[in-house]
Amino acid sequence: MAISLSDRLEAELSKLRESGLLIHPRVLEAPQRARTRVDGRAVVNLASNNYLGFADHPEVKARAEQSLREWGAGAGAVRTIAGTLRIHEDFEQQLADFKHTGSALVLQSGFTTNQGVLGALLQEGDLVVSDELNHASIIDGLRLTKATKKIYRHADPEDLDRVLAEHDTDGLKLVVTDGVFSMDGDIAPLDRLIEVARKYGAVTYVDDAHGSGVLGEAGRGTVHHFGYEHADDVIQVGTLSKAWGAVGGYAAGHPNLRELLINRARPYLFSTAHPPAVVGALSAALELVQRDASFMERLWENTRYFKAELARLGFDTMGSQTPITPVLFGEAGAAFEASRRLLDEGVFAVGLGFPTVPRGQARIRNIVTAEHTREDLDQALAAYERVGRALGVIGS
Ligand code: PMP
Repeated sequence: MAISLSDRLEAELSKLRESGLLIHPRVLEAPQRARTRVDGRAVVNLASNNYLGFADHPEVKARAEQSLREWGAGAGAVRTIAGTLRIHEDFEQQLADFKHTGSALVLQSGFTTNQGVLGALLQEGDLVVSDELNHASIIDGLRLTKATKKIYRHADPEDLDRVLAEHDTDGLKLVVTDGVFSMDGDIAPLDRLIEVARKYGAVTYVDDAHGSGVLGEAGRGTVHHFGYEHADDVIQVGTLSKAWGAVGGYAAGHPNLRELLINRARPYLFSTAHPPAVVGALSAALELVQRDASFMERLWENTRYFKAELARLGFDTMGSQTPITPVLFGEAGAAFEASRRLLDEGVFAVGLGFPTVPRGQARIRNIVTAEHTREDLDQALAAYERVGRALGVIGS
């Protein structure tokens, strides 16, 4: 007799409940901004990826509205059938120009980009070597391929060298890394990784979800930050859902990359194109960040201030180099309790435990944005000080 659906659902949910991993997403009752409302209370928001404050920016919204009025609510088809509107192609050209790459293709999300690109590029007989802390969408993307998969130690070019020396192939060799790691906020040592990759004839694939809009001139990303944006042996993928304020993913690099993906990337081939409002919003975001340097200046000024003040209070921010600012609590229970207490104090910051981060390294992940004022950050810091003292994480 087969198990019933209700028995299966109950069995799985109770496993999650017992291990303390059952998720209940908090609900924002106001737009995604530096100050918003969560579960009925006004909060300083340190939980979003809205790095530049574009998610609710008036100019971005105005362009979304304009595109909606001119082009309609939906694209109506997948890109390869009848869903490629003029604005989709124009935006891709705008993105390729911005990234200084030969081509760019937009997909529905950062998640589907990793699935589409890795799935399209890699074949049986290829070798892919991936950082042990790469994002879940990379791991899932690699599962779709028949390439041989190997892991190197986090952000460790010497270990990458060891793995590449041990495994050879006549097929494509691909080194895969996040540009900025989403849980620790550290930057991949791209120059050294690319140097090692080149020694073995490997191509480097950088998922720049958290580097786009954050690193490089006008937020061109981690690859630009290290000066490799013109390299044909570097593939950049990323998201349009974080700093760029709306939703989407992209792949940019070698001039022929776009052509191959149009023909082989399964999310591109089989899932409907972005609605016009999304395209309008993204196009405005790219214009805004290039026209007005103050977005990135405020992002980094706030980042430096928040990290320095947390360190002064005695918190461990785990060597983070970017606006992603983890605060270490150790045990998951302590991080979750601190997150609850911070919310009571009007600060929204999410606790993360195993398996999202390694055991014993549970933390609260804060993301500073360009939109935060000094007052917002000071309010959050005062709450951190009280909660940290009450839980014995910092001295009194
Ligand atoms: N890659 C990385 C490194 C990410 O952090 C994320 C977002 N969580 C994604 C891909 C997925 O991007 P999106 O939210 O656009 O699907």
